[in-house]
Amino acid sequence: PVRVSRRCGKRPIRVSFEFFPPKTDEAEEALWDSIHRLAPLGPDFVSVTYGAGGSTRERTQSTVTRLVRETALQPAAHLTCVGASRDEVDAVVRDYAAAGVNHIVALRGDPPGGVGAAYAPHPQGYQSTADLVRGIRDVAPFDVFVSAYPEKHPESPSLDHDLDVLQAKVDAGATRAITQFFFDNDVYFRFLDKVRARGIDIPIVPGVVPVQNFKQTAGFAARCGASVPNWLAERFEGLENDPATRRLIAAAVAAEQVIDLLDRGVRDFHFYTMNRADLVYAICHLLGMRPQAAEEGAEAGEDASASLPL
Ligand code: FAD
Repeated sequence: PVRVSRRCGKRPIRVSFEFFPPKTDEAEEALWDSIHRLAPLGPDFVSVTYGAGGSTRERTQSTVTRLVRETALQPAAHLTCVGASRDEVDAVVRDYAAAGVNHIVALRGDPPGGVGAAYAPHPQGYQSTADLVRGIRDVAPFDVFVSAYPEKHPESPSLDHDLDVLQAKVDAGATRAITQFFFDNDVYFRFLDKVRARGIDIPIVPGVVPVQNFKQTAGFAARCGASVPNWLAERFEGLENDPATRRLIAAAVAAEQVIDLLDRGVRDFHFYTMNRADLVYAICHLLGMRPQAAEEGAEAGEDASASLPL
């Protein structure tokens, strides 16, 4: 198969895609169009988020089970423990085990008052994410993924405290961490150094958010403690009424970020797709990913041209 030269001699690139459960029939159609567009790239897994406070429980479960039923993709179901008893959480986990789901992204979740409000675990619930990871693994041998925060979680007193929490999640059985999104790759690499200095050796997969909508992304970033560099704001300046140019800028920004991560040794990428495929598809193409069918076509094309006299 044709591969970009960056892949030669290196560990293959693995990508994963994150989706959120749709609210309307129209959104559901858009989601499945995106899934069908991205699936041929052969992602390692695709994850489906769990709405704040478990508000999308049924929709997350039905999206995940549809992925199992109708595709060859490996779904990873996000699951939070905020506002739920252990029995309620365990029932969801058992349903996933019965449906043939192998991966769960285990999270604490935000307090009902939103980011910044005081967090209190449910009295009969899992007391921490590490506790949740252990509980999930007690139900079935799931591959459990967790979060990591290169710029520190907004509630955390220090990055060191975050690393203690990450260590506890790994000790409880987490096999991979997915980071909150970031725009300055140095922030990720500094964090990675600190994680490795602690002896934590699970993959710390960078979460990449293509900026499909700058205003919306800046709003998310403010809520989750990710910083938005001035240069990024400047690149989108004056384009509020120019969606076509915004899309081109978004592609350039995301390409710059992932190619730099790739050149600095990253091989696993998690994309926050916002249920839209085009930009993520293009970035994966830049990373050298090719859909199965197109690869076969490309090979056939190559063979044909190879037989022509030059
Ligand atoms: P943890 O890893 O348990 O903790 C994160 C940090 O918060 C800790 O490092 C610690 O410093 C601090 N902290 C936690 N508990 C305490 C405490 N009791 N006292 C003081 N400090 C504390 N949310 C959803 O609702 N649904 C989703 O599907 C979802 N998916 C996500 C996916 C990814 C990849 C990421 C990065 C986040 C996601 N979130 C999701 C958001 C997440 O639920 C929030 O960031 C939440 O506030 C923390 O959950 P966590 O599992 O990351 O927490």
